[in-house]
Amino acid sequence: MLFSKSFIFTQREDPKVAECNSARLLLKGCFLSMISSGVYSYLPLGKRVLEKVNNIIRKHMNSLGAEELQLSYLQPIEMWEKTGRDKDLGDIMFRFKDRRAREFVLGPTAEEEITEVVRKYISSYKQLPLTLYQIQTKFRDEPRARFGLMRSCEFVMKDAYSFDIDEQGLGENYKKMLAVYQDIFKECGLEFVTVEADSGFMGGDASHEFMVSAGIGEDILFYCCGCGSYFKKEGNCPQCGKNLEEKRMIEIGHIFKLGTKYSQAFDAFFLDREGVRKPITMGCYGIGVSRLLAAIAETNCDDKGIIWPKSVSPFDISLLVLEEKLLPQAFSLSEILEKLKLHVLIDDRKEAAGVKFNDAFLLGNPFILIMGKNYLNSKKIDLEIRKTRKKLNLNEEELIKFLKNEYGR
Ligand SMILES: [Zn+2]
Repeated sequence: MLFSKSFIFTQREDPKVAECNSARLLLKGCFLSMISSGVYSYLPLGKRVLEKVNNIIRKHMNSLGAEELQLSYLQPIEMWEKTGRDKDLGDIMFRFKDRRAREFVLGPTAEEEITEVVRKYISSYKQLPLTLYQIQTKFRDEPRARFGLMRSCEFVMKDAYSFDIDEQGLGENYKKMLAVYQDIFKECGLEFVTVEADSGFMGGDASHEFMVSAGIGEDILFYCCGCGSYFKKEGNCPQCGKNLEEKRMIEIGHIFKLGTKYSQAFDAFFLDREGVRKPITMGCYGIGVSRLLAAIAETNCDDKGIIWPKSVSPFDISLLVLEEKLLPQAFSLSEILEKLKLHVLIDDRKEAAGVKFNDAFLLGNPFILIMGKNYLNSKKIDLEIRKTRKKLNLNEEELIKFLKNEYGR
């Protein structure tokens, strides 16, 4: 893709509204556009990253046999009254009336709706177990929207729901989901911890949170420098006795054993092998996708910009063409790389080298190729690794070998 033809309009100055590195760099690098406090549009670069994260999640969800669906964004208030969560969530819900005075909410989460849907179709143990998921926009009227995508009023969430005949089935599904969540976060390039958590307003009797350590995190854990473990309480480490240190954490995922709270409220029952009517046992599994994207940016950046992990970067390579006459060579190199399924952003703009370097660092693609005047004579190209700033000078064959090795192609 050509930079000159792309919707990439980076800013020279730091945006005034940004309160943290991720928000600052995502706005400055033209990944996001702020529409209102806590409301953002994903621009083409941001959408590329979002889709890569979504596809990693999809791949792992599908590997469990989970099926993707898409629930409605508008939910009638009566659904929420059945579980009493209209009161639990209170002002956090966007509520409004339609022209016939029917009250709706913009879905802040979907346990009620999914149970209502499944109830209509499931009547026998033969149809269970079942896991459904969606990647959908959710809405919360946040009293303090802040830190860009960290706490916004509109956000993308992956929510999955498991339906089992009993606690044992739920336990098995829950264990598999816990393992898959770890695979997802690892593949997204995040360093995270898994901790047992409180079920809060979701109800149920077990839950785990997945957290990333970052200064802007809104949750607090206590970290032991001695054995590297995390704990919910302060004091001394229960494992090795060393002093615990406070760490701020970002919650990126949360899974819950819901039990039968929702199935009882919605009359979602099935007939078991003996013909006895029983409530479906449920689990729910959330990932804050937009928050995950912000957590990746927040924990993978330097003073020049974001350093995207290879798995989620908008492009694999930024190819900076410093001499206009080298454009034909740049196009033919890009064609070779695209055949290896490597996505190349060719910076073909009539801009000074410094501007191109600044933008390449700000955009944060993992590899920067520099085609300058030496290229014509030597046929060797400079490659800079965004993360380590290591520079290599390679001929075409060496370059392809290097990239094939990096991407396992
Ligand atoms: Zn310890």
